[in-house]
Amino acid sequence: MNKNISVELLNEIVQELYHKYKGVNDGSLATYIPELAKAKPNHFGISITTIDGETISAGDFEAPFTIQSVSKPFVFGMALEKHGMDHVRSKVGVEPSGEPFHSIIKLDTDSKRPANPLVNAGAIAMTDLVKGTTQKEGRDFLQKSFEAYVGHPLNIDLSVYESEIDTGHRNRAIAHLMLHFGMIDKEIEKTVDLYFRQCSFIINSSDLSTMAATLAKDGLNPKTGERALEERYVKSLLTLMLTCGLYTYAGEWAFNVGIPAKSGVSGGILGVVPGRMGIGVYSPLVDSHGNSVRGVKVFEELSQKLKLHVLEKNP
Ligand code: GLN
Repeated sequence: MNKNISVELLNEIVQELYHKYKGVNDGSLATYIPELAKAKPNHFGISITTIDGETISAGDFEAPFTIQSVSKPFVFGMALEKHGMDHVRSKVGVEPSGEPFHSIIKLDTDSKRPANPLVNAGAIAMTDLVKGTTQKEGRDFLQKSFEAYVGHPLNIDLSVYESEIDTGHRNRAIAHLMLHFGMIDKEIEKTVDLYFRQCSFIINSSDLSTMAATLAKDGLNPKTGERALEERYVKSLLTLMLTCGLYTYAGEWAFNVGIPAKSGVSGGILGVVPGRMGIGVYSPLVDSHGNSVRGVKVFEELSQKLKLHVLEKNP
């Protein structure tokens, strides 16, 4: 990307992309968490926050949605800060799984570790590492840590949270399998409860871009100046986001887009352009990989137009 690109030009491009893709109605709402099926299919927000803390947005950038799997790299970061690299790596791999996000198969083979922290199994293992001794301690820790990234108080969507509590048996099964292999602590319900809570934080596309910009600025929130993550761990989060962030579309994403990113099944995608900007897109119609259809299109075009692929030589 040309480092001198102006905020005005960025704004023009963002508005153009919003109008270009708002009529795309491919994909469908996630229904396996019943509450997510209530999202508005036409909602579409795009936001970019620069590392100077300036945010530009288009469309429904204030539309609230639950963070879902976009929370995963951040909890991996929290686990790294709490336990250090060696301990965390003994609990989770860094290999793209080639499997859907909720896969349980990879655990049984290989090293008994989940493939990586961005599939459900690895994410639950990371939540297990940060859960603390009491339920309140774990909840408060997550709340405070995510608030450092967004720069304001966060709420939980209780109906989505309860919907996952009622229906998230596959995630419980994953947790039981990990317990069988001695990979997580025996208080499974506590861990799974906390995992469902972390997935239920309410954010919007503007928040996504601030969280991404915080990683783009080496872990420092560009709006508040608060440190959300130790600088030495930023690279580890970004590497996993580039190789594993979009599930079974991760290879295509690295090839076509080349921006470290994370998607969630509620329709958010967050992307980090190191040293430059954070990008957030929300549109709840998702494809068969569980990635926002309009979101993928916006990222593909932004990457090509602005030359944001991390392996592309900057002008
Ligand atoms: N809470 C969801 C789940 O565990 C998150 C999945 C996702 O966003 N891909 O199933």
